[in-house]
Amino acid sequence: MAVLEEPIKEVKVLKNFIGGEWIESKGQLVDVVNPATCKVIAKVPISTEEELNAAVEAAKEAFPIWRRTPPLARARYLFRLKELLEEHFEEISRIQTMEHGKTIDESRGETRRGIENVEVATGIPSLMMGYNLEDIATGIDEYVIRQPVGIFGIIGPFNFPFMIPLWSAPYAVATGNCVIIKPSSEVPISQQKLAELVDEAGFPPGVWNVVHGGRTVVSAMLDHPDIAGIAFVGSTPTAKDVIYKRCGETGKRVIAQGGAANFIVVMPDCSVQRTIASLMTSFFGNTGQRCLAGQTLIVVGEDDNFYKRFIERVVDAASQITIGYGLDESVQMGPLRDEEKKKRVIKYIEMAEEEGARILLDGRKSLRIKGDYPETCFLGPTIFEGVTPDMRVVQEEIFGPTMGVMRARDLDEAIEICNENPYQNAQCIFTSSGKSAREFRYRIRSGNVGINIGIAAPMAFFPFSGSGESFFGVLHTQGQEAIRFFTESKVVIERWF
Ligand code: NAD
Repeated sequence: MAVLEEPIKEVKVLKNFIGGEWIESKGQLVDVVNPATCKVIAKVPISTEEELNAAVEAAKEAFPIWRRTPPLARARYLFRLKELLEEHFEEISRIQTMEHGKTIDESRGETRRGIENVEVATGIPSLMMGYNLEDIATGIDEYVIRQPVGIFGIIGPFNFPFMIPLWSAPYAVATGNCVIIKPSSEVPISQQKLAELVDEAGFPPGVWNVVHGGRTVVSAMLDHPDIAGIAFVGSTPTAKDVIYKRCGETGKRVIAQGGAANFIVVMPDCSVQRTIASLMTSFFGNTGQRCLAGQTLIVVGEDDNFYKRFIERVVDAASQITIGYGLDESVQMGPLRDEEKKKRVIKYIEMAEEEGARILLDGRKSLRIKGDYPETCFLGPTIFEGVTPDMRVVQEEIFGPTMGVMRARDLDEAIEICNENPYQNAQCIFTSSGKSAREFRYRIRSGNVGINIGIAAPMAFFPFSGSGESFFGVLHTQGQEAIRFFTESKVVIERWF
């Protein structure tokens, strides 16, 4: 199958989008590299503190007018943006494949999920309504109104470059706030494209700003007195020790969604064929670089024959995954985002061996790439059995195409193993028993639960949950929780003489 046309034809220097203008940064430029071809596809600036300050000034100027713009009028900008996103759907998706490495189908899924958040936020007149009660005492009424807070910083990770800032930004602006987005500098191009469409949709200058960069921009956001809050998605060390901590010190609102090390529990009564198909996407989709990805498979029961046959079929299915450049539509798994990330995953595979696990499929050795691409960032699916709950490959986030396999005597033991893990982002169960499914859902600690679903991804109108070391804060991104995060409740008690 032919490789789809690349939408990025020349290496451009990305610009910041501040106050409705495209401004060249004075910061140092860094190459953005396509991990499949190893070619440079853009140059991204590491912006300065002054540039972040300029974005805050632009947002401050825009805020008083934007907050007075009626919610329905604000929604119309989002409707326009949604139309433009649909028009550019394929281009945006291909950009993600080029900057990140994921397959074109994964990118299309990501674009769709991103747009869905814009769609949900267009319902803002209903979503933002308050509530009231007459006669809280005779002749006295009381009501709650929701008001925007001000300026928010939105910080994204590398693994879903287009979608994740859209878990927050549409809700923030729909509720009347102004935003400054700092995309991951590893994958900044689809956010640049998004900002171009925001510009085309005619949002008032300063409502939606983008400042490219790294830690300097994040630190400046965290310290800036005029930034009211931060919506962050990334790894746990950054979420907990940098974002959550600093927001606590400076009194900012915060959503800090972190990393994961998820379990998938397979009961012997599961539908085997469908379960295995789902496991392939869960463990190896997005090349394992997904906070909802399965990392450890727990096969329940003492039936050795079931275990043996099941794992043989899993290994067989994983060994047939087509690996290559994601713009080839027949490819099922792309490269890791960069060579450093591949090295990190390999270190974990070596660690698994040292800790006593047995390799059943070795992606370091069995790698076959479709097409003529450098091996630099590619790694095949890797499966190792005999892991135990205390091993580092179970406890820590690997973030690559690996599957550790363990066994549990019964469902109770499996739930206990899941609940003892420090991360609690997503756990899933495959079973045909309603009783087992209910027990799992009821007792599991993680924020997202899948029942016969291997990627428990909440839709835009539900919160993107998380718990334990996977989440710091109270409210989550997406849907009603995002609306609450981006608004302040004002309670009015009213009496007329
Ligand atoms: P990361 O924490 O390295 O970076 C995230 C963002 O923070 C980037 O924009 C980066 O520039 C910035 N940053 C990194 N270190 C910083 C520091 N010390 N000070 C200030 N800013 C800093 O995360 P990543 O590697 O880009 O993303 C992958 C991680 O994100 C994984 O752990 C994954 O599980 C997690 N993730 C979580 C969710 C969720 O909803 N819970 C969703 C997607 C990804």
